[in-house]
Amino acid sequence: MDVSHILDSLNDQQRNAVASPAPNLLVLAGAGSGKTRVLVHRIAWLLRAENVSPFAILAVTFTNKAAREMRSRIDELIGQSMGGMWVGTFHGLAHRLLRMHWQEAGLPEDFHILDSDDQLRLIKRLIRSLKIDDDRWPAKQCQWYINAQKDEGLRAGNIEHFDDDYTKTMLEIYAAYETECERGGMIDFGEILLRAHELWLKNPQILRHYQQRFQYVLVDEFQDTNTIQYAWLRVLAGTNNQLMVVGDDDQSIYGWRGARIENIQQFSNDFSDSDIIRLEQNYRSTSTILNAANKLISHNQGRLGKNLWTDGADGEPISIYEAFNEQDEARFVVDRLQDWFTSGNRRADAAILYRSNAQSRELEDALLRVGMPYRIYGGHRFYERLEIKNALSYLRLLINRHDDTAVERIINVPTRGIGGRTIDTVRQVAREYNCSLWQACVECVNQTLLSSRAANAILAFLKLIDDMQQDCSGLELHQKVEHVIEHSGLIGHHEKEGGEKARARIENLEELITAAGSFDDPGMQEEEIDVTASSFLAAFLDQASLDAGDTQADETEDAVQLMTLHSAKGLEFQLVFLSGMEEGLFPHKMSMDNLTGLEEERRLCYVGITRAKAKLYMSYAESRRMHGDVTLCRPSRFIREVPGDLVEEVRLKTTVNRAHAPARGGATFGRDPGLGAEVPQTQISLGQRVAHGKFGEGVVLNYEGQGNNARVQVNFDAVGSKWLVLSYAKLEAL
Ligand code: ATP
Ligand code: MG
Repeated sequence: MDVSHILDSLNDQQRNAVASPAPNLLVLAGAGSGKTRVLVHRIAWLLRAENVSPFAILAVTFTNKAAREMRSRIDELIGQSMGGMWVGTFHGLAHRLLRMHWQEAGLPEDFHILDSDDQLRLIKRLIRSLKIDDDRWPAKQCQWYINAQKDEGLRAGNIEHFDDDYTKTMLEIYAAYETECERGGMIDFGEILLRAHELWLKNPQILRHYQQRFQYVLVDEFQDTNTIQYAWLRVLAGTNNQLMVVGDDDQSIYGWRGARIENIQQFSNDFSDSDIIRLEQNYRSTSTILNAANKLISHNQGRLGKNLWTDGADGEPISIYEAFNEQDEARFVVDRLQDWFTSGNRRADAAILYRSNAQSRELEDALLRVGMPYRIYGGHRFYERLEIKNALSYLRLLINRHDDTAVERIINVPTRGIGGRTIDTVRQVAREYNCSLWQACVECVNQTLLSSRAANAILAFLKLIDDMQQDCSGLELHQKVEHVIEHSGLIGHHEKEGGEKARARIENLEELITAAGSFDDPGMQEEEIDVTASSFLAAFLDQASLDAGDTQADETEDAVQLMTLHSAKGLEFQLVFLSGMEEGLFPHKMSMDNLTGLEEERRLCYVGITRAKAKLYMSYAESRRMHGDVTLCRPSRFIREVPGDLVEEVRLKTTVNRAHAPARGGATFGRDPGLGAEVPQTQISLGQRVAHGKFGEGVVLNYEGQGNNARVQVNFDAVGSKWLVLSYAKLEAL
């Protein structure tokens, strides 16, 4: 079989890595130098040139999206689809093992995953029941503590407190948390990895089986592995298997979650027979973008150091935009995207990146206003939304009545007359009898511990769930989901709330039915569904907990990509916007006061810049409303760290004046001749004073839409800010 084509499209260094005979391999190289490409080609090489069975290969990447991408690239290279290979994230693969070996892992068959929101609620509850002062020991801090210990592979019983007050308290909560999780059959994200590691250690026969099977283990984004992940890999690799890791110390961005750059050096110690290969040519970005990234990262100390070059063209300068506020910033970004799209590009080749999730809403609003499709990865995921979590809690109870987190969530949502006092009684009974909340409900009714009104309300709740389960048996997954949403009363609950937000929540619930529907689709089942889960519904719920919001929009639709900088790792786009480049936001205020934190932020910025292939925008706002407060902002130091000759300022003036100009992606205020509107041409621009018949005088802050739909935001001296439809408002320019 001719395998040379696998090596054809690689440079010499890459080829050495792909065809290396070394037992272990470390590829250490900068952004866009082809690390992931090498990994994919190596797999193809093993399959085709070395006739390795796909069953012998396990590949780990960082996100589910990356895993899917990797699979399809391999299929493409070898011209057929390869089953049997394990490709996934650490969490996904570890979870799969736990599903297959739940007994040996010491878990109930129907164990379920606790996401970080549920985890926090549970810890809050425990702190209260342990009578610990939650002002002094906030739940959030405790959550961090527990997760950090798990990342290091430590359980409460393994940690010495040395009579230290802080450690003692944390351990008390940690231990109670462990007991509670054990009882409820729940595992959090850290626990997935920890258990999977313990599964190896406690069950030599299982370990031996997988060591014999996975003779080739390949890891992308190795710089972001934490202690427990690395330990898991080492055990799996044993002494005979081949381990290939690829990574870039400059892109380590998960230190705050326990990732250890040191693992890179550790690797060459632990696997002394490993080959180290460096890749130096960047194939992704224009030289302007690459130089900007190289200069920026040179401000960090203690790097392993590398030399990254490109023979690509200079390309366009990096554009920097200073916005009035976050709305202006969002509008600017969307304008540019419209230009980009109307000049024949794909939306999916453009990405808007931001430091924190809270920034996405403004951008989403601006995109929605002009009707531009977009998708959000990671961050506030579909499955983390309140209404979705409520619906999922009902579904969870169908599988497992003893899921306390689910009971807590929905026992009185929608309201059904079960008040705080009643719930307290139920919790107390659960503690006394050491049983689940569900059982406690039953006890409360049986022992008439409640007023008859409360008891009736509880009974109605128990019956509701029992009935749902009965009615759902035999239905297909999406019908189950539909039935539960319909009979839970959740839709009516949100209808009562009213308003835009409630409408969105109802739409999301409908979307959940759609998501379940695509889960029913046989094409999907083969690839995505973990057949080891105890049922379809269980598999669906697992995926809901594990996966990012991949189901929220149609995969095939051409849509702009929105995501946090963290989720952008490993990806590339023709056009990239880095928004919110402000001190305190990026670098984030929690990290900018210490060198370690600041350097991690800078690496994050390096990751952001190097996502761009052709064109990069950076924007910041003079003032920003976040979490309800308006703050004045200073531009991020990272902007200054990019050499001036590589950037170009987008002058504010040109944007202000664009209001008068023809509709080049921006707004045409007033008449749109194509639509034959009767609105007279107005001479209104941003920042201008205007008068309105009813509201008096004010200043134009913002605009959106075009022609008949054009709206302006005016800050009126007397009544504050209002959005007005331009064609009705009869504004007079002053
Ligand atoms: P990151 O550090 O961001 O994860 P990476 O090192 O994994 O980047 P890749 O994503 O593998 O880099 O490659 C970057 C881009 O360069 C991809 O579009 C890839 O196809 C292209 N590329 C890599 N090597 C070559 C090559 N030898 N010839 C042509 N294109 C290449
Ligand atoms: Mg990569």
